[in-house]
Amino acid sequence: MQSAAKFIFVTGGVMSGLGKGVTTSSIAKLLQLADQRVSCVKIDPYLNYDAGTMNPVAHGEVFVTEDGGECDMDIGNYERFLNQNIPKSHNITTAQVYASVIDAERRGEYLGACVQIIPHITDEIKRRIRAIAYGEDKNNGFGDSDRGNGNGNGGDSKPRFLIVECGGTVGDIESLPFLEALRQMRIEEGPHNVLFVHVTLAPELDVVGEQKTKPTQHSVQELRRIGIQPDFIAARCASPLGDKIKQKIAMFTNVTPQDVLSCHDAGSILQVPQMLHEQGIMDSIYTKFGIFGMLNTYSNWDRWNATVKSMTHPGKDPISIAMVGKYVTLADSYVSVNHALKHAGASISRPVNIDWIDSESITDCSALSKYDGILVPGGFGTRGSEGIIDTATYARQNDIPYLGICFGFQLAAIAFGRSVLGLEGANSTEIDPDTPHPVVDLLPEQKNVSEMGGSLRLGSNAISISEGTMARKVYGGAAQISKRHRHRYEINAEFIPALREKGAIFSAESDSGRRMEILEIPSHRFYMGVQFHPEFNSRPGFPEESFAAFVRAAAESADGRAGSSAAGGGAA
Ligand code: GLN
Repeated sequence: MQSAAKFIFVTGGVMSGLGKGVTTSSIAKLLQLADQRVSCVKIDPYLNYDAGTMNPVAHGEVFVTEDGGECDMDIGNYERFLNQNIPKSHNITTAQVYASVIDAERRGEYLGACVQIIPHITDEIKRRIRAIAYGEDKNNGFGDSDRGNGNGNGGDSKPRFLIVECGGTVGDIESLPFLEALRQMRIEEGPHNVLFVHVTLAPELDVVGEQKTKPTQHSVQELRRIGIQPDFIAARCASPLGDKIKQKIAMFTNVTPQDVLSCHDAGSILQVPQMLHEQGIMDSIYTKFGIFGMLNTYSNWDRWNATVKSMTHPGKDPISIAMVGKYVTLADSYVSVNHALKHAGASISRPVNIDWIDSESITDCSALSKYDGILVPGGFGTRGSEGIIDTATYARQNDIPYLGICFGFQLAAIAFGRSVLGLEGANSTEIDPDTPHPVVDLLPEQKNVSEMGGSLRLGSNAISISEGTMARKVYGGAAQISKRHRHRYEINAEFIPALREKGAIFSAESDSGRRMEILEIPSHRFYMGVQFHPEFNSRPGFPEESFAAFVRAAAESADGRAGSSAAGGGAA
């Protein structure tokens, strides 16, 4: 018989944006620090099949998994907290569930039954969660990591704990079938195997400075109305929840005061596991699950504390980075890039300040001269592309460290084509289908693709790095790496010989040399474009190599600048 998995279901009340993802990741982290096999699942009750077609400015970044899922950005939080890969099956949406049920109905599998939300949709939701928990999904992403970068595909090992976050807010029509499925699972798996954590808000009104409990009371009432009694309340608040407030919430929500957890503002989300631990969440989880005699895990905690400290106290002498792109109006649209820069800065004890600059607003690049490094992240479409091309040229001509990711790589090659090869009007056919010099063109296999969803070149692919290149050094001498992709266009093979002749080095390739993966300019102090998305592999304590090299180069540039201005000051 299968040994039971333990499930922790995280629901949300009052409003969105309270940090359910951080609560979920933090609980998972605490279990991992206790040497438990753990993974996370995100339920997104929206009707999109996945996050791939969603606008990053409205919904935050699309996070790409190793196995090519275009997922909600919470999956990125789980990966970064756990230092563990999460497969795409761990992001469940309404569309996926309905698609399976409708397909089964068309195949006649319901044998004449009337197909309904309960039980058919709820059964499919439970089936998907159990497939992950009981290891039917071999690519289940469990691993006892925290020990290296990018590990954690534990093959067929099963998790002991699965933390499932249900997106949305209790009371939403869309999330009802999911909450119903979770409610059923508590009965079916047994109450000792299922816990509910409800994340709410305890707002503080400025005038009186008192933390209010009513929103929490109401949202728990709503949850109980659909049959779910939470075991824990995690209340978001500006300052720590007072004991009296905890008692009041406890009384109204039928939870013990000890299980009302204060999730107050912290300097870094990485401090939340410690915050929850100090309030005794682990003892309570073990007691409720009937688990005793947990292992001594001081060494795990020492490692994690050192990582958190490096991230929260990154030293003095900040490095300033300009991030030039199209979706810069919402910090969350490039959340993994932002984190990756901070991971890299922490590894050399330097804080990284990031200025987001809308490429559409760039008219004169000289404003970029004050930055120690310029990063152009991924992007799609025409808007703002000229500003990015000018930025790529400016960084190249002024020897400012440059890291171009995906779109930033493609447009750097176009910038090189225009200004070094004199290819006037060079462009990507994505931006200008009639360009006389299509330096970047559609991937050949994309020519007949008509569907937009899930049809890009996605997920992890093997890349070969040429000997004697900067890329080889950056990747620690590795001849082969594997990185995540998300693109439809690539460097057009026709232009590669001419670009190479004028000094552009394509130092890494994939698919037996058919696709260019890294561009570098050896005469420059650090100029690198990558067709892949290195940001998705960066983790606290384990910065992705290209980010680490870029930030190191930017730090040197900052130091050089400080040195020369000090010298200049002395002379004057
Ligand atoms: N729009 C480009 C492409 O599809 C780049 C994509 C990206 O930056 N993720 O190839």
